[in-house]
Amino acid sequence: MSAGGEFYFDTKVTDILVQHQEVKGVVTKQGDKIEGIGIILATGHSARDIFELLNYRNIYIEAKPFAMGVRIEHPQPIIDRIQYHSEDRGEYLPASSYALVAQVKHKGIEKGVFSFCMCPGGYIVPAATAPGEVVVNGMSPSRRDSKYANSGIVVAIDEDDMLPYQKYGPLAGLQMQRELEQQACQIAAGSQVAPAQLMSDFVKGKISRELLPTSYQPGLQSVQMTELLPENIAYRLKEGFKIFGQKMKGYFTDQAQIVGVESRTSSPVRVPRDKETLEHVQIKRLFPCGEGAGYAGGIVSAAMDGERCAERLAFMYAGRKDITYVSLKENNPSSA
Ligand SMILES: Cc1cc2nc3c(=O)[nH]c(=O)nc-3n(C[C@H](O)[C@H](O)[C@H](O)COP(=O)(O)OP(=O)(O)OC[C@H]3O[C@@H](n4cnc5c(N)ncnc54)[C@H](O)[C@@H]3O)c2cc1C
Repeated sequence: MSAGGEFYFDTKVTDILVQHQEVKGVVTKQGDKIEGIGIILATGHSARDIFELLNYRNIYIEAKPFAMGVRIEHPQPIIDRIQYHSEDRGEYLPASSYALVAQVKHKGIEKGVFSFCMCPGGYIVPAATAPGEVVVNGMSPSRRDSKYANSGIVVAIDEDDMLPYQKYGPLAGLQMQRELEQQACQIAAGSQVAPAQLMSDFVKGKISRELLPTSYQPGLQSVQMTELLPENIAYRLKEGFKIFGQKMKGYFTDQAQIVGVESRTSSPVRVPRDKETLEHVQIKRLFPCGEGAGYAGGIVSAAMDGERCAERLAFMYAGRKDITYVSLKENNPSSA
């Protein structure tokens, strides 16, 4: 604010003004035009309207690999026992966490199954962004003191999984994600109640007669998760759980349940940008930024990417030649 910034709260961008392959500004839902020297597009991985807008405006975007699966919830003491090799973690040790990964072959193709955003002493929370869909995510309060440990367990999704959605072009992954989330809503109760199954029943292919207590506030509905999850995801999750049970003795238990669907691990779309200038590959003055554009995977990396984009924009279009322009290529060839 001290540098002259203005915040517009409750102001949705509904269009991007482009002239001669250069952005001029944005249009808001209220119909106001806001013009400027450039746009840092950091609308997050759930801004489906923005991805659709870019596609509609012929601003080049591409489908990007991501991951989908379920969230698994164990009682925290089970994870503590495994990790601390002790019956009780006592007063001083924090709720323990884990990170798991396995490679699982299905129809001759090997893909990763891995834990994502593990939340010790945490909660499973609803994370849908539109009516008629169920999406779950996880969070831990700073005290990490809930009775449960939860984690996303997800399967890598890439081009071959998106083949049935080819007609959606760069929005293939987005459509795949959206359909799964809508089915998750329909198969449960048509509300934020999430479909769930005991992990052991899921692996055996048996519907759970009863579910376990959960941290997920809207509640759970017992379903046969194989009816919801695509076969390639369900198969790899089943095999993954067995492998995880060997890696962490006690992890594979009838005291854990899976909750669906964990579908927003990262953006299913990339908004490509030049590695050096961070400007869109085709449209000048447009700086795709953060998780939604495919350049960050968490709070800190998104914030740092925002800072770098702001520096590039100021350097290139606001005459701020005093801003140190660190070449990403020289600095870190693998970044961006
Ligand atoms: C439940 C939960 C727990 C998480 N826990 C962690 C964690 O512990 N650690 C971690 O590192 N990450 C965590 N994450 C991920 C983290 O929140 C994201 O990686 C990060 O916020 C991405 O930042 P971003 O700036 O790219 O996008 P976002 O934070 O998603 O910001 C995008 C912004 O753009 C706005 N926007 C979208 N469309 C429009 C439009 N058309 N017009 C105007 N504005 C628009 C949105 O309202 C939003 O404010 C968690 C996410 C969730 C959902």
